[in-house]
Amino acid sequence: MADLDPNELDVETLAIRTAQLRTDEMAHSDPIFLTSSFVYENAAQAAARFGGEEPGNIYSRFTNPTVRSFEQRLAAMEGGEACVAFASGMAAISGTFFSLLAPGDHIVSSRSVFGTTNVVFDRYLKKFGIETTLVDLSDLKAWETAIRPETKILYLETPSNPLSEVGDIRALAKLAHDNDALLVVDNCFCTPALQKPLALGADIIIHSATKYLDGQGRCLGGAVVGPKAEMEEVLGFVRSAGSCMSPFNAWVFLKGLETLNLRMQAQSARTLELAQWLETQPGIARVHYAGLKNHPQYELASRQQSAYGAVLSIEVEDSDGRRDRQAAWRFIDATRLISITANLGDVKTTVTHPASTTHGRVKEEEKERSGITENLIRLAIGLESVDDLKADLERGLKALASA
Ligand SMILES: *Cc1c(COP(=O)(O)O)cnc(C)c1O
Repeated sequence: MADLDPNELDVETLAIRTAQLRTDEMAHSDPIFLTSSFVYENAAQAAARFGGEEPGNIYSRFTNPTVRSFEQRLAAMEGGEACVAFASGMAAISGTFFSLLAPGDHIVSSRSVFGTTNVVFDRYLKKFGIETTLVDLSDLKAWETAIRPETKILYLETPSNPLSEVGDIRALAKLAHDNDALLVVDNCFCTPALQKPLALGADIIIHSATKYLDGQGRCLGGAVVGPKAEMEEVLGFVRSAGSCMSPFNAWVFLKGLETLNLRMQAQSARTLELAQWLETQPGIARVHYAGLKNHPQYELASRQQSAYGAVLSIEVEDSDGRRDRQAAWRFIDATRLISITANLGDVKTTVTHPASTTHGRVKEEEKERSGITENLIRLAIGLESVDDLKADLERGLKALASA
């Protein structure tokens, strides 16, 4: 594909063909460069490499061919100029803030972001004089009001976890740019298979590769995609902070990217079918999924995503009308196939009770405000058959009826 124009190729093709590595052995599958350092022909070459006069690998904290291949492939899929890989999604998120911000800068962020991202805002960025204002993801006026002269970054995840709220990337990009700020989007839930935030005006994309990019729950990893200038800053930070991706993990993610489109399409289709089915079931008080026509941002989700993703949430109610933790736990404990775990993005379907796990440390009033009710259950749908998943969810529904 070296002589083909990547702009002419579809994301499915880019996911498989971008930055394939070829060694002298001409292996068809990408080789792993599982090495910490690289050797030189002679002392002069070593000096030239270290001095930056000759391009080439030195040490895997700086560059590694397998990691580079992953970075180039993801950048191509997102339509970005450059990508920097990290050891985890959180390393990518904190690394982006620490490399692009300085004391006195301000962030406006959606309230509904990954829990640990809030810890970074609250405990670490604050310590270095960087303040964050939290706003409701879908309330554009609130974003506008929160902006200050020193605001440098607007930050969001869309659709949100676990309630599937949707943020208007195009409108927020305009708001950011009118105020000389960058729009940073965590695209973990959709991936470039379903949503291309850069094409809608966002400046920087963040990924937890741990989720759908891997797709089979094997490795931790993260990545940032954006303009060359900003990515140079971010890359400089990784080299000094040491939060680099392992070459082995990069190889797993390269394999994951090859099937990303098919998985995202298939998992989204199953999720939509299950969401529509769950809506009709007794014991289900509410289904949160942006693919349902009664979702408040259904139109927006349909415009900015090509499918609705594979995470949905339900609010359950037992036969006595109780909508509490006991009802939620009874539903979860009655399932036999689905894994009880906080992870998502796997081909194995998972179920979580956010109020007592992922959002367990969130203050009560904040929980209420973000809609993390005691009867809320999050499902991240995988690739098992829809019939088997329905049968398993029916076990949960039965447990609600026999309260
Ligand atoms: C999991 C997750 C993260 C953090 O990623 P890790 O790889 O676990 O560090 C960040 N953002 C979102 C949306 C996530 O789901």
